[in-house]
Amino acid sequence: MPHRPEHRGFIILFGTRQIRSGEGGPPVETGCPNCGTTAPFIGKNIRTWFTLFFIPVFPISGGQRVSECTHCHTAFNLPIEQLRGASANSGQHQYQEAIALYNRLRENPTDAVLLFQLMQIYAAMGEGDQAVSAARHFPEALAASSQCRELLARIEAAPSPAQQA
Ligand SMILES: [Zn+2]
Repeated sequence: MPHRPEHRGFIILFGTRQIRSGEGGPPVETGCPNCGTTAPFIGKNIRTWFTLFFIPVFPISGGQRVSECTHCHTAFNLPIEQLRGASANSGQHQYQEAIALYNRLRENPTDAVLLFQLMQIYAAMGEGDQAVSAARHFPEALAASSQCRELLARIEAAPSPAQQA
């Protein structure tokens, strides 16, 4: 039987480690699917590094761009620009809906259901002032609906939706 040479005394402790680095750029304020809060998301770049004695020596994977929730630190697998684009588009969609409702209200200025929908959209967009001025523009619809008046009172009582978040 061949004699096996004995190696002793030298151990290399190696491993891998994921490192997330910030990309900079403005954060995107949006709802987090993980923790459910509305929080700023920031762009990050994740790479796996080869480590020696826990010290990163060189990257062994290409960077993967993610968006990270600053509240729960969950990383989502999409670049921050895509998140920014998506949240801008949803805002645009709400604007279009608000414009359509406003025009329908001008034709039917007593329609409290339309006014309530319009005020809700403005409130959801963080445009409390617009909700208030819509209510003032259509006093007949406002007078016809206690729902609208309650919503108006809530919006006027709140300092601003941005500060509540
Ligand atoms: Zn989160």
